[in-house]
Amino acid sequence: MTLNFCSFSSGSSGNCYLIKSQNTALLVDAGISGKKILEGLEKTKTNLEFLSALLITHEHSDHTKSIKTLTKKHNNLNVYANKKTWEMINKDICKDQMKTFDTGKIFTIGDIRVKPFKVSHDAADPVGFSFYSRDKQISVVTDTGYMNDEILCEVENADILILEANHDIEMLKIGKYPWFLKQRVLGDEGHLSNEAAGQAIVKLLTKNKKERRILLGHLSRENNFPEMAYQTVKNILEEANYYIGKHVYLNTIIRDEISRTYEI
Ligand SMILES: [Zn+2]
Ligand SMILES: [Zn+2]
Repeated sequence: MTLNFCSFSSGSSGNCYLIKSQNTALLVDAGISGKKILEGLEKTKTNLEFLSALLITHEHSDHTKSIKTLTKKHNNLNVYANKKTWEMINKDICKDQMKTFDTGKIFTIGDIRVKPFKVSHDAADPVGFSFYSRDKQISVVTDTGYMNDEILCEVENADILILEANHDIEMLKIGKYPWFLKQRVLGDEGHLSNEAAGQAIVKLLTKNKKERRILLGHLSRENNFPEMAYQTVKNILEEANYYIGKHVYLNTIIRDEISRTYEI
């Protein structure tokens, strides 16, 4: 049995991912237009009616923009978020479709087990997710100011890890963002830099040598380029004697672009 991953878009301007097994299809976040989500579903040959659930990481609009549109289009779609996140999502959604999970507790949707875990971000109760199907694992960690041991522990066995590489620190510092926004992005409850992503991957490879693919995501439009994120991480890995293609597979997923489907 396989577990598939496809990004419909990833970045500060909007996020939406598809996780799919034979019998279950889940979306993580709905931060792009309904039209783009439908395009992604069509490209991955996923019927809207086949979608089992939409899972929300946190309330920011680049993750929640189209919740209402999707629940209207698909009346049986359940949307899952934790209690504090629901309190911040001010959308008129049918109560029957609103489901609540507890951060840290595993729950099951179809044949996929889901574990939401805490990350560090300036939202009410932001989470990353791990998805398990038999012995396969896909994990998503974006919108976090840092990677601590707890988060590393959650994702160390992932066969596919979607990891935030939001910005290049120097580019952010000299860029046009106002001072308060720079402080926010760089802070503990902000976003993970390319450098921090690279260092986190070195820790993962040192802890656990399993074969894995890492997809760098949630890249900033203003303060990053896909090539820069990739190259920065590559340099940090090579300094620690880890090589792409040998110790880890590395790709970037980008905004406004449906990625290829990664299968494990
Ligand atoms: Zn975000
Ligand atoms: Zn956010």
